[in-house]
Amino acid sequence: MSASQIPPATAVPGDDVPTLLVKIFGKDRPGITAGLFETLAAYSVDVVDIEQVVTRGRITLCALVTAPSPGQGSTGSAEGDLRATVHNWAESMNLQAEIISGRGDNRPRGTGRSHVTVLGHPLTAETTAAIAAAITATGGNIDRIFRLAKYPVTAVEFAVSGAETASLRSVLAPEAAQLGVDVAVVAAGLQRRAQRLVVMDVDSTLIQDEVIELFAAHAGCEAEVAEVTAAAMRGELDFEQSLHARVELLGGLDASVVEAVRKEVRLTPGARTLVRTLKRLGYQVGVVSGGFTQVTDALQEELGLDFASANTLEIVDGKLTGRVTGDIVDRAGKARLLRSFAQQAGVPLAQTVAIGDGANDLDMLNTAGLGVAFNAKPVVREAAHTAVNVPFLDTVLYLLGITREEVEAAETHVG
Ligand SMILES: [Mg+2]
Repeated sequence: MSASQIPPATAVPGDDVPTLLVKIFGKDRPGITAGLFETLAAYSVDVVDIEQVVTRGRITLCALVTAPSPGQGSTGSAEGDLRATVHNWAESMNLQAEIISGRGDNRPRGTGRSHVTVLGHPLTAETTAAIAAAITATGGNIDRIFRLAKYPVTAVEFAVSGAETASLRSVLAPEAAQLGVDVAVVAAGLQRRAQRLVVMDVDSTLIQDEVIELFAAHAGCEAEVAEVTAAAMRGELDFEQSLHARVELLGGLDASVVEAVRKEVRLTPGARTLVRTLKRLGYQVGVVSGGFTQVTDALQEELGLDFASANTLEIVDGKLTGRVTGDIVDRAGKARLLRSFAQQAGVPLAQTVAIGDGANDLDMLNTAGLGVAFNAKPVVREAAHTAVNVPFLDTVLYLLGITREEVEAAETHVG
């Protein structure tokens, strides 16, 4: 089509243009949308907006169309004629119809747009009321609501405009903690859909275990190591000192223990689904761990991770020496590695997601565009952008706006 053939644009009416809002409600079946628009087509109206949802088999279809020109129809009143025809059609289909006259389109949405994702297990009416009221209290308007998933949790996303993302976060975080649900607030926009990088902690995040405790069980010093780990995770001990102290207790262990520990590692429920879905969607995925490359290398291979970094247990003459080699991956190291992975992946930090549970994850969580505290210690939960407190790692996908249907499509994808 050449430029001279492009018809003048008429689809976006000004505020003064008469429009009709046509709402259809009833039992869903094939052909309703086609039937409504075929009925409207007889009046040569233009479509300004359409929204349709199906909830438990009932369709709600809203069509905003320009009012018909006075010449249309057979009775002299084009709008009256259209109304009667649509009502007759709806009655013949056993549907309810409502037609509201007005002018123009929606008011433009306010600036400052965010997505608020709520994970409930279950999601109660009381929680929904409290979240909606908190959004309203920030001056935000809920433009759309839809369900992302019903498994393994109920996940609902609110599209909100008119409030700053940061102020929504600060109002909703304490509300969520009080209600016992997980709420994530992320800025809307293209970057939400742009390719991203997800970097995870390993111990008690990607896997259910603390790897050093698995080694300690083989060395018979489980209780001593567990106490040092707990103190470090509470932020009471310097991580590097505690690492050296714990690894020293492993000195003299036979290197064959490494293989035994690899076999003992239990992935967190949803871990495989999370990684597989992210990979299918073109995300890059990495892990950083204060644990050991002897385990993270195996996880990298098993899960197809793009990046993995951890400390390395020194092994000499078939025995653990009780020392680690190379640069120590500690709290600052994890944040540094996130930056490094992001640079290698060509992903701006704003488009990165970090997930972790411990105090040594905090710098990484706060360096990422979205930091997710996963079943974390209180000190971490309170400092992170958002928290997930259900024991399923794949629920993080819902915070990124990925629906259960997309997750399942990635699972069945051949390739
Ligand atoms: Mg951890």
